Amino acid sequence: MTYYYGAAYYPEQWPEHTWEPDIRLMKQAGLNATRIAEFAWSRIESSPDCYDWTWLDKVMKLLHENDIGVVLCTPSASPPMWVVDACPGMLNIDVNRIERPAGARRHYCPNNPEYRLHSVRIAGAMAQRYGNHPALIGWQIDNEFGEGVGPCYCDVCAAEFRNWLKEQYASLEALNEAWGTVFWSGQYNSWDQIKPPMQGSRPFAQPLIPGLRHNPGWVLDYERFSSDSFVAYQNLQENAVRPHTDKPVTHNGMGLASNNIDYYDLFKTLDVCGYDCYPSVVAESYSASSRNMSHSRNLTGKPPWILELSSGGGFSTWGGARPQAPPGALRLVAWHVFANGGEMALYFQWRMMAKGAEQLESSILELDGVPRRKYEELKRTASELKRLEPWLSQTQVKSDVALIFSYDHHWAHSLKPFSNSFSYSDQSGALYDALVAKGLNVDVVSLEADLTKYRMVVLPSPILMTPEIAAALKSYVHGGGVLLSTFLTGVKDWHNVGIWDRPLPGYLDDLFGVNVVEVDPGCPDLPTRIALDTGACKCEVKHSVWSDVLETVGRDTDVIGRIVGSYRAGEPVITRNRAGKGLAYYLGAWLEKDALSTILDEVLNAASVLRSPIIVPEGVELIRRTGGNLDVTFLLNWTYAPVTLNLNGLYTDLMTDRRHEGVFELAGRDVAYLRKES
Ligand SMILES: [Zn+2]
Repeated sequence: MTYYYGAAYYPEQWPEHTWEPDIRLMKQAGLNATRIAEFAWSRIESSPDCYDWTWLDKVMKLLHENDIGVVLCTPSASPPMWVVDACPGMLNIDVNRIERPAGARRHYCPNNPEYRLHSVRIAGAMAQRYGNHPALIGWQIDNEFGEGVGPCYCDVCAAEFRNWLKEQYASLEALNEAWGTVFWSGQYNSWDQIKPPMQGSRPFAQPLIPGLRHNPGWVLDYERFSSDSFVAYQNLQENAVRPHTDKPVTHNGMGLASNNIDYYDLFKTLDVCGYDCYPSVVAESYSASSRNMSHSRNLTGKPPWILELSSGGGFSTWGGARPQAPPGALRLVAWHVFANGGEMALYFQWRMMAKGAEQLESSILELDGVPRRKYEELKRTASELKRLEPWLSQTQVKSDVALIFSYDHHWAHSLKPFSNSFSYSDQSGALYDALVAKGLNVDVVSLEADLTKYRMVVLPSPILMTPEIAAALKSYVHGGGVLLSTFLTGVKDWHNVGIWDRPLPGYLDDLFGVNVVEVDPGCPDLPTRIALDTGACKCEVKHSVWSDVLETVGRDTDVIGRIVGSYRAGEPVITRNRAGKGLAYYLGAWLEKDALSTILDEVLNAASVLRSPIIVPEGVELIRRTGGNLDVTFLLNWTYAPVTLNLNGLYTDLMTDRRHEGVFELAGRDVAYLRKES
C-alpha cells in the first residue's frame, strides 16, 4: 500500500519558470503527492468554451516526471465572473436574504439549474482530458462545500424545498400534522405558502430580525433539504467525472459538522473520505482532530485522505495572529494523520501565495520558495513514513467502542437549544476525549452503523427518537451489547415535535428501566452534587449544565447516582438496567471530567473492553493498530515536556529497532512507534 505525503499546490498563481524548481523540491524532500486546480476555473476556461489546457498539461507532465501523484479538483467552488453573468440567479442568498456577491468563493446556489450545467460541463471536460493521465491518483469534487456560507435560501431553493417536502410528506395535511403547525396558527393551506425559514443551525445563519422563533420542524427539515441539495450537486459532478476515469473520487469535508451537510450522505457514493484536518500546531491537545479522524476513518470504511493539513501560521489570512509551527509540529500532525488511519496527508500549502484573499497564508515554503526548516522537517517525516509503510499497511485502527454522531441530533440541538450551556458537539467531544484518554481507540459512527461489532456504544443526548432506532438499540443491548445514553434522550420525534403519548425517554423507557419525570437545567455557577455508587466506587461528584430527574420502572434497574441536597435529595439521576444479555446505562446529568471518567470506567468494565497496557498521561495520544499477529502502538506527545511512561511489556521501536521494557521516555512533541513483542 502506498501512503501519500505532500502539499496542496497552486501553479496557476505562479509564473511558469517557478514550476520546475518548486516541483523538484517536492521530489527531493521525498514527497509523492499534491492537490491542484480547485480554484483554477478561469485559467482553464477564461470565457465560454474557450479552454486553455496548455499550462495544466505542462504542470501535470512536470509532476509526473518528478513522481508526484496528483489529486485533481473540479473548480466549482470559485465560479468565474463570466459564469456568474451567464447564470442569472445563481448567487447564494443567505438566511437574511442577502446576496453573496461574486469576487470571493462559494457564491453559488447548489440548486441553480444553469450553474449545475456549467459545473457538470467543466468537471466532465477535466475528466475527459486527465482521467487517464499517469500522474493522476484521484479526484476532489469542489472544495469544502458550504464552508463559511451555509445553506442557500433563494427562490430556486424555495421551489426545490417544496418539491422535497412533497416527497417527504405526500400531503399538506401530513406536513401540518408532522410539524405541529397548529401552534401560533402556522397551518399551511397551500404548498406555495411554504418558504425557506430565516433561521439556521450555524452561527452565520442567525436571523437579523429580533425575536424570530420558527417552527422547529420547519427549520430542521430545511437543514436536511439543504444537505440533500449539496449531496445532489456533488453527485452530478461525480457522475460527470466517473465515465472518464477509474481513479478514486472524493470531496474534502471540513471537520465533523461545520457545513450543514450530513457527511454520511455526502460520502455514501464516494470512494474515500477526504477531510481537511487542522489540528493546532501549538496546542497540547489533539482531541477535536482525533475525533474527526475517527469519523472520517469510518465514513467509507477505507483509509481517509487528508487533503489539507495544518502547516502552521505566521501571517494570518483572517486575522487573529495564528502562531507559527514550532519545530516538530509538522511531523507531529503528519503522524497524527497516518497513525489514526489516514492514507494521505497534504499540507495546506506548498508555497505561500502572494495574491488574493488568502495571500501570505501558512505554507511549507515561504514566498521566496527557499527550502528552510519546515522543508527539512517534511524531508525527515517522508523518510520515516517510507520506513513505517510496511507496518502501517499490515495494521488497522480497530475499536471495541463506538460513539454515535448524528447530524439530525446535532441540528435539532443547535436549532432549538434548551440550554445555552449545552452543545451536542462539545458533549460528543467530551465523551470521546474521556474515552481516548484511557488509551482506547474509539469509532465515531452513524446511527445506522452495525453496532453488533462493538462491545460498548455511547449515545450522546439523542434528542430525536423513532420506534425503528429504538428497536435497533434494544436489539443491540438484548444481544449482549452495553449502551450508555446521556440526558435529553428521546424527547422528540423525527419531526422535532415532543413525544407526548408515552413516557420519556421516548420508545426507550423499557430499555433503560426509567421514566424521565422532570428535567432541570443546571447552573454552571451553582453545581449540585450527585452521590455515586457503582459498586467499585462510592463518591460524591458535582454536576452542572443539565439533569434529567428519573424514576425507576424496571425490575432490574439499579440506581448508581442520586441527587444530594436540595429538594431533589435522593432522586435517581444515573441508572443501570439489565436487558436481555446486555446492559443499558442512563446518564441523566452532565458530569465534570473526573466524574465522567469514573462512570465510563464502570461501563467499560461492564462491557469487558480491553485497554492498552500502556497508561498515557494527559496530552499524549495513544493509537493502537493491529493486524494478524502485529500489535503496533503509536505514541504522540503533544505536550512540550518529556514524559515517562510504563510500557507494562516488551516493545521494539520500529524506527531504531531498539527494545524497550518498562520505563519509556518520550521527548516533548516527539512520536514513538512501538511493536509489541509477544
Ligand atoms: Zn438557492
